[in-house]
Amino acid sequence: MATAQDFIPPDPSQSNHNEAKLLHRRLRDDEFWRKIPAFSEVSEEEFLNFVFQMRNSAYGEDKLIELIEEIAPDEFVEDVKEGFRKAPMAVRVTPYLLGLIDWEDPWSDPIRTQFIPIGSRLYEDHPMLTLDSLHEQSDAPVEGLTHRYPDKALFLPLDTCPVYCRFCTRSYAIGVDTETVQKVKLRVNPKRWEEAFDYIESQPQLEDIVISGGDTFNLAFKHIETIGMRLLEMPNIRRLRYATKGLAVMPMKVLSDERWLDAITRVVERGRKLHKQVVIHTHFNHPNEITEISRRACNALFERGVVVRNQSVLQRGVNDDPSTMALLIKRLGEINVHPYYVYQHDMVQGVEDLRTSVETNKEIEKYVRGVTAGFNTPTFVVDAPGGGGKRAVHSHEHYDRETGISVYTAPSVKPGEHFMYFDPLHSLSEEIQESWRDEGQREEMIAEARRAAGFDAS
Ligand SMILES: *Cc1c(COP(=O)(O)O)cnc(C)c1O
Ligand code: SF4
Repeated sequence: MATAQDFIPPDPSQSNHNEAKLLHRRLRDDEFWRKIPAFSEVSEEEFLNFVFQMRNSAYGEDKLIELIEEIAPDEFVEDVKEGFRKAPMAVRVTPYLLGLIDWEDPWSDPIRTQFIPIGSRLYEDHPMLTLDSLHEQSDAPVEGLTHRYPDKALFLPLDTCPVYCRFCTRSYAIGVDTETVQKVKLRVNPKRWEEAFDYIESQPQLEDIVISGGDTFNLAFKHIETIGMRLLEMPNIRRLRYATKGLAVMPMKVLSDERWLDAITRVVERGRKLHKQVVIHTHFNHPNEITEISRRACNALFERGVVVRNQSVLQRGVNDDPSTMALLIKRLGEINVHPYYVYQHDMVQGVEDLRTSVETNKEIEKYVRGVTAGFNTPTFVVDAPGGGGKRAVHSHEHYDRETGISVYTAPSVKPGEHFMYFDPLHSLSEEIQESWRDEGQREEMIAEARRAAGFDAS
């Protein structure tokens, strides 16, 4: 889908068309926010302050409509109202992102697509979708700690983020309750965290902790430090990662919240003294999210020796064409962010417009490999539904493009089990879509895929 601002159709006779134009080095550097009427008088200095970003974020329907009413087409505003009635996610968007959206054509804008639901683009859910498709809650020995892999665990100290993404896997917990979903609560609570720490200490095989959420941008600087130092002092722990989407949606935090940046830096430096790795994992999805402001923020981290890695989610209409993905990856390299993973979109309810087939993922992987340094080439993965963990997208035991069923195994995570991913209905033929709507035929297709993958139908 041609959605990138800089999109140029791939030309097989000139495979490095983006390179030739060196688009990845040209980052946006204008006062783009001034076209939002409410921010038209906002100076660069004020806009670069994270407090301004937080105070002026569009949180909920009324605030969002107020900010965009004058610049977005009327039909679009109506479409957003319809989207709010149907969306299972809370909405929160920073002024930074609002300013980067093309309000002349918000329908196809890749940033709008990720954060603002609209009624006209909501598709029928695949019948196999569930709210917690990764089974993070059933692999949780204590609340807010998912221990699925032998040597690493996912710690969720909080459930808030500076923005709310429509595609969030954790929509079972993140954000406030919406009209359609009541959330599990993971509040900032040092007492609850102690239970997680006790568990981590009691498991000698655990070496690697992902501190996620929610988003660690929303942790107070003192909590960044207490969590980090507490984990670093455990003899079994060798690696920590702070996960934050913040760099992609509010880079001002790094440029203006010195206490937060200093707290992270102190944990990184303490880790270095102890010969333990402490890094940041972030989440850019589209080249338009990377501006000169992002470069300044990432430079600040780079100068302090803080390693940043990126995890993207493959989304239809956002980054599901090869040249957009290639440009994203080159641009991440440009700001010293290491592209680590590109995820197949999880099987989350209510966002079928964003999912792609596994086939699309494989095609993009093929195109991207070779565009830049191997160590800056991300691994394209499916987080196997049902708790199988991340699998390389092309490593399926079986894939039927017609029914859209792929079957994966995870011998070192859940030996003997198999895991299925289901392509979205809109990527399948009309006839197969009908079959999915029928419970009997549904079971037959699944049994057939299981047999074809070498598993018993029983
Ligand atoms: C993704 C994830 C991790 C970290 O996995 P890596 O492949 O090392 O990035 C750990 N635990 C859970 C539950 C995860 O989902
Ligand atoms: S920032 Fe991460 S955890 Fe928060 S809503 Fe977005 S994807 Fe979910």
